[in-house]
Amino acid sequence: MSTISKNISLVRENIATACKKTGRNIEEVTLIAVSKTKPVDMLKDAFDAGAIDFGENKVQELCDKIEHFQNEHMNWHMIGHLQTNKVKYIVDKVCLIHSVDSIKLALQIDKEAAKKGVIANILLEVNVAEEESKFGLTCENVEDLVKEISKLSNIRVKGLMTVAPYTENAEENRVYFRKLKQLSVDIKTKNIDNVSMDILSMGMTNDYMIAIEEGSTHVRVGTGIFGDRDYTKIS
Ligand SMILES: *Cc1c(COP(=O)(O)O)cnc(C)c1O
Repeated sequence: MSTISKNISLVRENIATACKKTGRNIEEVTLIAVSKTKPVDMLKDAFDAGAIDFGENKVQELCDKIEHFQNEHMNWHMIGHLQTNKVKYIVDKVCLIHSVDSIKLALQIDKEAAKKGVIANILLEVNVAEEESKFGLTCENVEDLVKEISKLSNIRVKGLMTVAPYTENAEENRVYFRKLKQLSVDIKTKNIDNVSMDILSMGMTNDYMIAIEEGSTHVRVGTGIFGDRDYTKIS
């Protein structure tokens, strides 16, 4: 068994443990293999080990990698900050854009989706911990943006996403995951047209088990599958 295949098995076991602990069905949780900075060969290993969902954070890298897997059934997730001028390259290639945090970006996604004849599924990125260094809406601004986007024809809000603070102790992030879950429940009860709050994208290598205990439906695991990232090799 390759290291990647072993890592995926381990992550899946941990997902199962967290689900069991909280009485959740394992089918409710999608594992996204975050392959940013990693070579195509490693993605192939992960795919052979059963990974179907892949997450990337740069448009160019995402498009290059998709090219290599034209004939495979894989789901691609855009999880990084997205510039409006790059929306056109990915809008019909990804299953979900996790990182929408402005009406300007939403309008551009709607426009490019219309041109390509697709409906774009998106999540709103929320900076729950209000960290200066991070993208994302504050919790207070989410509902207004959801309402504005709900008027657009070619874009659907499917839920919320957060990147929790980096911490050695994952327990410290539980409060942020709980807050995001509560926000999604609050918005769901408003029954806004074209909006569902079925997806909660939260939890990364260090804290995905806690995130699942708090209701995550999509965990984004990079290091835990592919090992440490070497940014010195990336231009
Ligand atoms: C890189 C990245 C991840 C994966 O982080 P790991 O700690 O390596 O699991 C998850 N989500 C986003 C948005 C990322 O940019």
